[in-house]
Amino acid sequence: MTISVPDTDVAIIGAGVVGCAMARRFALEGARVVVIEAGTDILSGASKANSAILHTGFDAPPGSLELHCMQQAYDEYLSIRNEMNLPLLETGAMVAAWTAQEEERLPDLLAQAQENGVSDARLISRAEVLAREPHLAGDVRAALLVPREHVVDPWSAPLAYATQAQALGARFMFAAPLQSARRDGGTWHLATAAGELRARTVVNCAGLYGDHIEAMLTGASRFEIRPRKGQFVVFDKAASALLRTILLPVPSDRTKGIVLTRTAFGNLLVGPTAEEQEARDRPDVTRPELDALIARAGEMVPGLRDMPVTAVYAGLRPASERKEYRVHADADLGYYCAGGIRSTGLTASLGIARHVFDLWAQAYSASGPAVAAPPVVKVPNLAEHRPRDWQRPGHDGILCHCEMVTTREVEAALQSPLPPGDFGGLRRRTRCAMGRCQGFNCLARIASLCEGRLRAPMVSEDAP
Ligand SMILES: Cc1cc2nc3c(=O)[nH]c(=O)nc-3n(C[C@H](O)[C@H](O)[C@H](O)COP(=O)(O)OP(=O)(O)OC[C@H]3O[C@@H](n4cnc5c(N)ncnc54)[C@H](O)[C@@H]3O)c2cc1C
Repeated sequence: MTISVPDTDVAIIGAGVVGCAMARRFALEGARVVVIEAGTDILSGASKANSAILHTGFDAPPGSLELHCMQQAYDEYLSIRNEMNLPLLETGAMVAAWTAQEEERLPDLLAQAQENGVSDARLISRAEVLAREPHLAGDVRAALLVPREHVVDPWSAPLAYATQAQALGARFMFAAPLQSARRDGGTWHLATAAGELRARTVVNCAGLYGDHIEAMLTGASRFEIRPRKGQFVVFDKAASALLRTILLPVPSDRTKGIVLTRTAFGNLLVGPTAEEQEARDRPDVTRPELDALIARAGEMVPGLRDMPVTAVYAGLRPASERKEYRVHADADLGYYCAGGIRSTGLTASLGIARHVFDLWAQAYSASGPAVAAPPVVKVPNLAEHRPRDWQRPGHDGILCHCEMVTTREVEAALQSPLPPGDFGGLRRRTRCAMGRCQGFNCLARIASLCEGRLRAPMVSEDAP
């Protein structure tokens, strides 16, 4: 099938969190936007599986673009969150030292936080750590407290960005992997599996395939994606009573390390690992690594030793051969790249979008004026610390009892302006089948509701 999309200002390749934020920013600025996504829904790549922390940038490389984008995005997230109904679990974080060597590194981390403008970070003693977190193992020595590191819902935020972009006229093409591209005059001719289109410019937000897309468009790639897997264990909801603050390790040069944090959905999460791998598609979970995560969690919070596990999952960071984001612009070619957005992209996406738009606007202008009064988009609340749909009357019954998902919530997602294209997308929009039984009890009823309404056939292991 070939559909022809009218000429646009910008074709965005990839509907991960960066592509969704990019679409919103360009649409807000009056540009005509098309988003081309290989998967059957938004968040088909790296963005579907992360730790969901909204970072302050306290430990980012000073002066880096990453730091700039994170901090700008942090402020923007706070400014739009009430209007869009985006949750924020105000946890704060502690970088905990468990050995003398780690404790010696804390003052350097504090100095870095201060250099990065995170002026409310401070060192706290073992006694204060344990007063804040009484369930922590007693051998913790001290910590750096970062009060404004928080937890978000990693799926509702990009959904809100994409939905607002669409309300502003952006068009989303799913199951549309970019297959070839040709530049002719000042125009890109793009061929996808779902049709062809022409665009003045292209923004590469293809995550784990960003280098391939750059090579396809420009003949060679300036970076190489080196996927880095992160595995996670999700403990039962009862476990979340054991910890309030995000518990971060003293970071190494390679990774932020294993984090213990509550989720917005009322669970406790431990992970991620940092494992280099060749494959760029679905990451596997592996028993020894999961066992090691569970063991480490139990060492830090002994009450977790007997706590049941609800789920396990893995994500792939679109890391590259260098530590920094790979953002660059070829204005003459009409090519912009937001590549190598490795471990902070959920936080930084709004800032990356603004930065790339600013680069683009130096050479191009949008076809319309910036939108003065953007359409108000509100996503449904899935966070456990705020009222959920099942607590309101008229919800037409609970469909998923583990996560207390109502029939009304599933119907609303299926009828929403940007409905899920696959079962994973439905789970991310409602949390159905994401609890203790992982869909064992509710899958048949969900399947009958979804019949003929998803782009892709329903596959039960389509998680997270
Ligand atoms: C384990 C882990 C933990 C993390 N923790 C955090 C955290 O706590 N806080 C935080 O801020 N960030 C975190 N991140 C980082 C964040 O998740 C990533 O930075 C972010 O998801 C990258 O988004 P992206 O949009 O660049 O890429 P992606 O999400 O991969 O999006 C790229 C999209 O492009 C599509 N695509 C690929 N090729 C094509 C093609 N040929 N045609 C069309 N479409 C194509 C893909 O299907 C995909 O949907 C974490 C990441 C991982 C993996």
